[in-house]
Amino acid sequence: MGTFAHHGKVIAVTGGARGIGEAIVRRLCSEGAHVFATYNASSSRADAIAAEIRAAGGTVTFLQVDVSNEDSVKGFIEAVVAQGGRLDGLVNNAGITKDGLIMRMSAKDWHDVIDTNLSGVFYACKAAARPMMSQRSGRIVNIGSIVGLQGNAGQANYSSAKAGLVGLTKSLARELASRNVSVNCVAPGFVETDMTDKLTDDQKASFFGNIPLKRGAQTDEIASVVSFFLAQESSYVTGQVLNVDGGLAM
Ligand code: NAP
Repeated sequence: MGTFAHHGKVIAVTGGARGIGEAIVRRLCSEGAHVFATYNASSSRADAIAAEIRAAGGTVTFLQVDVSNEDSVKGFIEAVVAQGGRLDGLVNNAGITKDGLIMRMSAKDWHDVIDTNLSGVFYACKAAARPMMSQRSGRIVNIGSIVGLQGNAGQANYSSAKAGLVGLTKSLARELASRNVSVNCVAPGFVETDMTDKLTDDQKASFFGNIPLKRGAQTDEIASVVSFFLAQESSYVTGQVLNVDGGLAM
């Protein structure tokens, strides 16, 4: 593992103790970054991952953050800048699902998903904008979803939050470009994590049938694209949504 060079960079990643976020944290550490990752409920996993990364020579700091709470997110970004001395990258990965058809979707399930998946990203981007603008450099990567582009029955809350991330990404890309801060969105299709583990084998098989590559993604296939958006190699790319979905949406 390890393709792009992130030596000496300070990068913040939300939801780093499981799934796609864990793969992003492991990859960025193997590529030389000092990663500040968050966990919310998964504290023992965070400890175990941190120990493994440090044993392999990487630098990682895990902090507890609830992304749906603005003070918690603001405190996280302030701690990163205080401890890391700068902020080169922010990856907004933390997210939840609370699926249901709209007739049965409670207002609480609507708000919980919007609060975590969309407002949480706003809080982090707002807190990160100041240090990145004063540095005159920075990269923000938001983890969206193809359902934010295509919609999905049973996911009105989730797909609305992910569609909102597209507007947030493009608006911030325009606001921050003059200070050399890029903002992009990576939109996965189906990735093998706890989030998709809830599906039955039959549901997975029918989903895979519609994917040109005929399989779901491994988490590192998302992490590698995130790393590209944080790297020097993507210096002229901003405001983009890149589908990483095996060809599902084209
Ligand atoms: P996952 O395995 O279910 O992990 C969810 C992550 O979000 C965990 O790290 C969790 O932290 C964190 N999280 C949840 N609520 C939080 C909160 N209030 N505050 C802070 N952290 C919170 O999910 P995943 O599949 O890796 O998904 C990661 C991202 O990719 C999400 O944005 C998701 O929408 C997106 N995505 C996933 C897929 C897929 O097929 N899996 C497809 C498209 C997009 P704790 O465990 O510490 O609570």
